[in-house]
Amino acid sequence: NMLYSNSMQYAILADIHANLAAFTAVLDDMRQRGKVDEIWCLGDVVGYGPDPHQCIELLRENKHICLAGNHDRAAIGRIDTAYFNPAAAAAARWTSEQLQPDDKQFLENLPMIVEKDDFTLVHGSPREPIWEYILSISIAAENFERFSTRYCLVGHTHIPVIFRKTETGDCSALPFSPDIKLILSDKQMIINPGGVGQPRDGDPRASYAIYDSEAKTIRLFRVAYDIQATQDKMKENNLPIHLITRLSQGI
Ligand code: ZN
Repeated sequence: NMLYSNSMQYAILADIHANLAAFTAVLDDMRQRGKVDEIWCLGDVVGYGPDPHQCIELLRENKHICLAGNHDRAAIGRIDTAYFNPAAAAAARWTSEQLQPDDKQFLENLPMIVEKDDFTLVHGSPREPIWEYILSISIAAENFERFSTRYCLVGHTHIPVIFRKTETGDCSALPFSPDIKLILSDKQMIINPGGVGQPRDGDPRASYAIYDSEAKTIRLFRVAYDIQATQDKMKENNLPIHLITRLSQGI
C-alpha cells in the first residue's frame, strides 16, 4: 500500500559540468518517473560548460546534498589549474569569472565526504575524494578498504560502472546500463552513475541514477538533451573547441 510506504527516492547525479540543457533534461526525466525526495550530487557542478551560475542556482532550488569536485575547487581558486590540461584550465578561468559571490560561497562550503544511510558519497574516491579516478578493478579493490559504509557512490570518471566485492573477496566490474536493475546486496559496492553534463562512455546522452530505499535498488537512466544548445553557448563564449565537439560524441 503506497499510502503507508516509507520508500524514499534519491536521484544520484554527478558531473553536471555547467551543462544546463543536460541538467534540466535530467530533472524533467526524474520528475516524470515520480517523486524524488532528494538529489545526491557527487561534485563537479561547474567547469567545462557554459552555465555555471544557472546550474548552481537550479541545484540549490532542489533539496540536495552536494560534494566537492576538482572543478568546483578550481573555479574558486582552491586548486591550481596548473594541474589541469590546457582546455580544462581555460574553462576553469572562464568559469570563475561567471560566478556570483553566492555561487562562490556555495562552492566553498561543499564537503569532501558525506555518509548517508548505507552510502559514502565522494567525487573521486574514498581514499582521495577530489582527485582519484576509479577506472580499474585494482584501484576499486584498494578503495574498498577505505570506507566503512556498505556502498560508496563516486563520480569524476563520467563513466557509469558498478564495482562489486565478490564472495572470494575479489573485485568485479560491470558497466552500468539502463537494462540493469541493481539490487543492493550485503556485498560492498562502489557505484558510478555516469556524467550528467559530459558523458564519456561513448553515449552522449546524460546519465544519472535513482536509488529506491525500500526496494533497495538503483536504476540507471540515459536522457537525450539539446546538445546543440549547449554547444552554441560554448561557442559564443569562446570555450575550447575540443570541449564543444566531445559532447556530441560522448567521450
Ligand atoms: Zn568531472
